[in-house]
Amino acid sequence: MIVSWSMLVLLPLAAGLAVIFLLWGYYGVRFPGGRLGAAGREEIYRCAVCGRVYVAPGKSKIAHCPRCGSLNEPVKR
Ligand SMILES: [Zn+2]
Repeated sequence: MIVSWSMLVLLPLAAGLAVIFLLWGYYGVRFPGGRLGAAGREEIYRCAVCGRVYVAPGKSKIAHCPRCGSLNEPVKR
């Protein structure tokens, strides 16, 4: 039963590492360091009235909430 015991220990370890590497690779590809800034300078906004979180181009520094239409400033990152 040595094989099955070692498998019980190694399989979760390998699965955990695989998940970590998959997530790392996924976010590394989708959100590389400089690409977001070069692509469109999008900012995250949180509506002060209805609490909705949305993304809009950060050119104007202020954006209308898509739900209630109030103006909001981008969230500091
Ligand atoms: Zn709103």
